[in-house]
Amino acid sequence: MINRFLDHLPLIKLMGIGASLEKKFNTLGIYTAKDLLLHFPLRYEDRTSSCAIGDAVIGEFTTIEGVIVKSEVTFSRRKMLVCYVQDHSGIALLRFMHFTAGMKASLIKGKWVSAYGEIKRGKNHLEIIHPQFKLKTNRDDKNTTLNDDQEKYTPIYSTTYGLSQTVIRRSIMTALLFLKNNPPDEILPPQLACHFLSALDCLNTIHNPPIDTQIAQLESGEHPAIKRFIFEELLAYHLSMLMIKKHNQNQQSHQFFPNQRLIKPFLSSLLFTPTRAQQRVVQDIYQDMTKPVPMMRLVQGDVGSGKTLVAALAALNAIENGNQVVLMAPTEILAEQHYHNFKQWFDPLGISVDWLSGSLTAKNKRQRYERILNGEITMLIGTHAVFVDKVQFNSLGLVIIDEQHRFGVNQRLSLWEKGIKDHLYPHQLIMTATPIPRTLAMTVYADLDVSVIDELPPGRTPITTVVIPNTRRDEIIERVNQACLDNRQVYWVCTLVEESETLDAQAAEMLVAELQARLPHLSIALVHGKMKSDLKQSVMQDFKAGKIQLLVATTVIEVGVDVPNASLMIIENAERLGLAQLHQLRGRVGRGSAVSHCVLMYQAPLSKIAQARMKVMRESNDGFVIAQKDLELRGGGEILGTRQMGMANFKVVDLIRDQHLISEVQQASYDIQKNYPQSAVQLVDCWLPNREKYINA
Ligand code: ADP
Ligand code: MG
Repeated sequence: MINRFLDHLPLIKLMGIGASLEKKFNTLGIYTAKDLLLHFPLRYEDRTSSCAIGDAVIGEFTTIEGVIVKSEVTFSRRKMLVCYVQDHSGIALLRFMHFTAGMKASLIKGKWVSAYGEIKRGKNHLEIIHPQFKLKTNRDDKNTTLNDDQEKYTPIYSTTYGLSQTVIRRSIMTALLFLKNNPPDEILPPQLACHFLSALDCLNTIHNPPIDTQIAQLESGEHPAIKRFIFEELLAYHLSMLMIKKHNQNQQSHQFFPNQRLIKPFLSSLLFTPTRAQQRVVQDIYQDMTKPVPMMRLVQGDVGSGKTLVAALAALNAIENGNQVVLMAPTEILAEQHYHNFKQWFDPLGISVDWLSGSLTAKNKRQRYERILNGEITMLIGTHAVFVDKVQFNSLGLVIIDEQHRFGVNQRLSLWEKGIKDHLYPHQLIMTATPIPRTLAMTVYADLDVSVIDELPPGRTPITTVVIPNTRRDEIIERVNQACLDNRQVYWVCTLVEESETLDAQAAEMLVAELQARLPHLSIALVHGKMKSDLKQSVMQDFKAGKIQLLVATTVIEVGVDVPNASLMIIENAERLGLAQLHQLRGRVGRGSAVSHCVLMYQAPLSKIAQARMKVMRESNDGFVIAQKDLELRGGGEILGTRQMGMANFKVVDLIRDQHLISEVQQASYDIQKNYPQSAVQLVDCWLPNREKYINA
């Protein structure tokens, strides 16, 4: 493989990096000179233009300039040097806990100083603790900048404990210098490369922006220097997907022809007929399974569109043809629910269904491993536990993955590889409720064929959504009471802003106590992520069976849970959740024929973006519309991130920001795959080195 950015040069080989520094870089995922060079700044600071003291904002990194009007060493809690700096607009303090005799001698009354740091609130004045500073010869001395290297913009990098910005910058500069002496090869084909600056120039600009750089463009992804890398990374991602697809098409698979032995009695045992959309998607699947290459199909369907039935019909085809099927779900609650559904559906057909999760006892697990291996279990359902090496199948014909956004591409492919036997690959069916707009789907699902269930089962009434401040809690509790008296069931989801299951669980417990006191005649139960799984299961079963009227839950119930009699959903602190999550949660109701309601309870005041989100939720029940709005509303770091889509973590690309490049990238990637296979491999190797395993075979 080429040595584009000193790819394999260990950090320790760079001057100034020793073992302990190397360890710190490792915690940031930086192992080689290349990793270091591709560790791009989070943002840039301009330390050269100063701000009037009177205009300084607490919490912001700012440069102030003025004359020292007083300087003293105080001993209040500890010894420190305090300088009072004045400009035309006010006075600020510079506070030094550590200082040398030299500093004390030079930071004296009457001197002009320029200081940079985070503005903090002090007792009487704003202050900067341990500022970077420079003394000026006089008031108008403009030659003094705070950067030693005389550059205007200072890049700020993400870092870790004990690793200073200065050290990161210095290390990157060392690597850059090294690269200058060993210039990287051009990996883009000539007709593309001519549209971009050279990779070395780009890296130089990014890590060390010249004084006239349009810094805002660099931060927004529009600057040519960063654009090259955005383009490269998107290209690499697309190419890797094409390679996965091609690799897949070169494999052999079982050919399944539906013989109706099981499918027919199954369909007639159902209390309903599949919707037209379900039938169409099942036909797509059956068509794929007749081919000698493994199916790789994604089924997209909004919450409640009936994906489970589609999965069951796909499974029956493989089982009819004498093969095993595995279905993997992202949570135990969901795996358990699927298990009960499939058991109910498949038991009468004489198909043995079982399940596997991390919470089973070792003995239980061992037994299942054995029964999976000898083929006694035909339909296996589970969580990530179906992944472990000990699970070996007898004749796996189909892998089904539910709610795929929780799994990464690599995870998915490794499960798939488990099923290889006699060079035959299992078919793959992936189901997701996360609707994403078309342009993004072209990237995210580039390796998959896609079918959409674009119709809900008949008889559903749309959910009415209301937005109510938490000051009207009494009213909401009365509403819960009324729904239960009408023999309906209710979810009350409580959320905290912290991503801590423990705190969430505590808050949920307190909420249960409160509701129990206020509604003593109701049967109320709790489910949260910290509960033992058998307890969780029995609570869900009781809720399903109608023994529990009000279920208080954390967001663990977000995906997939199906209790048609539940018709009221209360979401507390709804302002803290993103649109995708709100839509998923709300999708837990409106699954039966009763009119369903969703109450979004919020803590005032609502931010502009939260207001906009609430409005979208009130106005639409359609996942695709909501996803589109989500995209439009999205501010920095908002929702619909890569995390939710279970895809590669991009280094430079922000899919939402950069989506306008996608069709161009797609064209370029077909061209490169066809005409420059060497470039294709190099690009993937540079940006997605872990994917090699799945594309080189
Ligand atoms: P999701 O797509 O969110 O996974 P589910 O598969 O859980 O949806 O289905 C939601 C509900 O709709 C279930 O109670 C299921 O039994 C029911 N359902 C599925 N298909 C049909 C259909 N064709 N007609 C009526 N009800 C259906
Ligand atoms: Mg589902």
